[in-house]
Amino acid sequence: MHHPIVSDNSQVCLYYGEELARYGFGDGHPFGPDRLGAFWQEAQRQGLDQAARLCEPAVADETSLGRFHTPDYIARVKAQSVTGEGYLDYGDTPAFAGVYEAASTVVGTVLDAVRRIMDRECRRALVPIAGLHHGRRDTAAGFCVFNDCGVAIETLLQVHKLERVGYVDIDAHHGDGVFYAFEDNPAVIFADIHEDGHHLYPGTGHSYETGAGAAKGTKLNLPMPPGADDALFLERWHQVEDFLRRHKPQFLLLQCGADSLAGDPITHMAYSKAAHAHAAERLCALADELCEGRVLAMGGGGYNRRNLAVAWSAVLDAFLHAPTETDQD
Ligand SMILES: [Zn+2]
Repeated sequence: MHHPIVSDNSQVCLYYGEELARYGFGDGHPFGPDRLGAFWQEAQRQGLDQAARLCEPAVADETSLGRFHTPDYIARVKAQSVTGEGYLDYGDTPAFAGVYEAASTVVGTVLDAVRRIMDRECRRALVPIAGLHHGRRDTAAGFCVFNDCGVAIETLLQVHKLERVGYVDIDAHHGDGVFYAFEDNPAVIFADIHEDGHHLYPGTGHSYETGAGAAKGTKLNLPMPPGADDALFLERWHQVEDFLRRHKPQFLLLQCGADSLAGDPITHMAYSKAAHAHAAERLCALADELCEGRVLAMGGGGYNRRNLAVAWSAVLDAFLHAPTETDQD
């Protein structure tokens, strides 16, 4: 079977713009404002920017943020965005001047991608600076101010009236902000492969955490030992596919954090970009099978600039090259 590049580039949207790069905690910080540029250089080098449809960042309004976050927390971020002082949690996530606008841009950009996919303006999309999966409804956590994944899920359920939304997370860290917000919500089909919480922040995501109450069985946590490589990833990945097929989500979100590649400065995993390529390729196929092709990737973590550049490029390349239903008839 041949895998032609999707000839109509309107099928894959790629978000890029200065406003999106602004979400960062200063030069020299692991989550610095240079991350988007590092990815962009590599995407350009591979010609992927030419193959995708480029889209501008957008800003989320308070109503959209309020689908996931509490009014008190939104007001607090807004206030600290003016002073640029203090922390937005207990000491991981500092405020900076303009943090409200920057964090609202991450969310708004993801929501723009959700809308375009639901309106069939495109089939797949990548938002590189996004996937802030530690953010809680009422507080920041782990470099994550507003949780764009959470707002996207609430929007798909509340506004687009979907009955089941799939969320797949291959970042080295457990997506605790998403998991606990929807732990008892059976509409959220959650699968997360991450470094075992005994060795890494945030310490959660144990295999016995499968959802609560009516949502029991709708969550899959797959902790990996430190040093886990591509072979182990591929072995465990089958469980993600079986799980998604069983629960039939109508939209797939992928948090494709690149901090699970070998050489990240703050984690201990050893994937190559092949893991990300495989996940993206397989989710395109599953989206075609289950979700009318709808799949949205959010960049997530990744603190080694070379790693995030090649991992996110691999995801975009897979989105561009995956066969579509129309190729397969
Ligand atoms: Zn991470």
